[in-house]
Amino acid sequence: MLKKKIKTLLIGTNNKGKLKEIRDLLPKSIKNYSTAKFKLKSPVENGNSFKENSLLKARYFSKKTNLICLADDSGLEIDCLNKKPGIFSARWGGPKGDFNKAIKKVFRELFKKDKNWKKKKIKARFVCALSICYLDKIIVSVSGEIEGTISTYPKGRNGFGYDPIFIPKNKKKTFGEMKPSNKYKIDHRSIAFKKIKKFL
Ligand code: IMP
Repeated sequence: MLKKKIKTLLIGTNNKGKLKEIRDLLPKSIKNYSTAKFKLKSPVENGNSFKENSLLKARYFSKKTNLICLADDSGLEIDCLNKKPGIFSARWGGPKGDFNKAIKKVFRELFKKDKNWKKKKIKARFVCALSICYLDKIIVSVSGEIEGTISTYPKGRNGFGYDPIFIPKNKKKTFGEMKPSNKYKIDHRSIAFKKIKKFL
């Protein structure tokens, strides 16, 4: 385990939405780099869980740059779709990562499952695994979750990914309608972040 706090960190993601959120959550004292600065492509995410994929990305980007790397693997689990899209959340957007396409696929899959799905409470959760690695060494690996339901149509333009269709438990607005600062107070990524605070 690291004795000193991390001062320099590579954020191991090529997803611009995630990069912004992680930057907003990191203490300002940490010098952080993006993968774009090193023109790095993402590794193939062939792990079987969010945790495995976050470790795989953290190790890969760390080895490419020789920097300590923080990587996130996250996604949306919908209970009645057997937790899909899950680790395939990004891939449901196709090769261009088109989130409208991914949301349409969610609605299509829900309709295939149950034509009356709009009249039901569709339980779902966002999951985020965060790992920090230096080369092959795991410094820390944690996860965070937030429960909620799926909105019957996309609402709001904030955030990224599935934000416009996710209504967190006990709230009325989707993440897409919330101010980013309000999303960060409760979301899966900030829950996971609290668990790695002592390293940062
Ligand atoms: P990956 O972890 O890079 O494989 O991609 C995770 C995918 O899950 C993203 O591309 C989004 O589609 C989705 N996702 C993860 N976290 C969030 C979030 O906070 N809001 C909306 N969508 C998210």
